[in-house]
Amino acid sequence: MQKYKYTTIILEKRLARWMNGCGLIVAPIGLIVIGFAEPQAFFVAGICLAIPYLLLLGKHFSDRSDKGNIVITPTAIHLGKDRSITQRYPDDESNESMGRGHGLWGKGHGAEGQEGRVLDGLTTINWNELGEIRSTTHTSRIQSSSGGDIDVETDVLHLIKKGKDGTEKHYGMDFSQWGGRFVKGHVGFYTAQRAIELIKNLLEAASEEERVEIIKNSKGVPTLEHKRRMRMVPFGNRKVLLCEVCTISSVYDDRIPEDERECPSCGSRPI
Ligand SMILES: [Zn+2]
Repeated sequence: MQKYKYTTIILEKRLARWMNGCGLIVAPIGLIVIGFAEPQAFFVAGICLAIPYLLLLGKHFSDRSDKGNIVITPTAIHLGKDRSITQRYPDDESNESMGRGHGLWGKGHGAEGQEGRVLDGLTTINWNELGEIRSTTHTSRIQSSSGGDIDVETDVLHLIKKGKDGTEKHYGMDFSQWGGRFVKGHVGFYTAQRAIELIKNLLEAASEEERVEIIKNSKGVPTLEHKRRMRMVPFGNRKVLLCEVCTISSVYDDRIPEDERECPSCGSRPI
């Protein structure tokens, strides 16, 4: 592993963290605004907000750790330590209720334990052990405190690990509730579909060297480099465009001709 220390792609839940962080700031501001506008409502609103806020706070700190990361190296794919990793066997497949009832306000309750044994440790699947891969979208309905339901869509990645004795183990891992994951330290953005394409490319690669190249070219621009480039673009020349390949909006320099613009996340052009 040491040899490839820098040739890894770490897919992290940065967007989820950011969204949580955002909620953590917005909620108290909202409360203060309510307090000024309607002092009587302040107490009621405070109670209504306090519980989701505490849950969000807990989720924020649990998400900050790297335990849910997916680490891709030239030799293997590692599924981070996460409560949502479950191990099931193919004959469990009849139970089609994929994923667990994860709500916006926290991990699922109760039912999780029945769906599969929660793995206690890092899971490594070497490239020669990887079988079928696919993704599903799991919709869970959560009740919001103000009444009514909110549908939360979670993309779940499914991987099959082939054992030496012909057995197959199924691993399901929550990929994202926010449309995708970012590459750690880079602006590369992966939807579940794009992640599967990457994994398939690596699986079909002929050698470790080839995988090193694929990994190097799949991270997107380093975050610091992207920020540096953007600082040099005058405000009036900044243009936000959506990349259709990786479904993320980025800022571009509109002085660059259209056919030379490159998506900082996936490198596709023209944008
Ligand atoms: Zn792109």
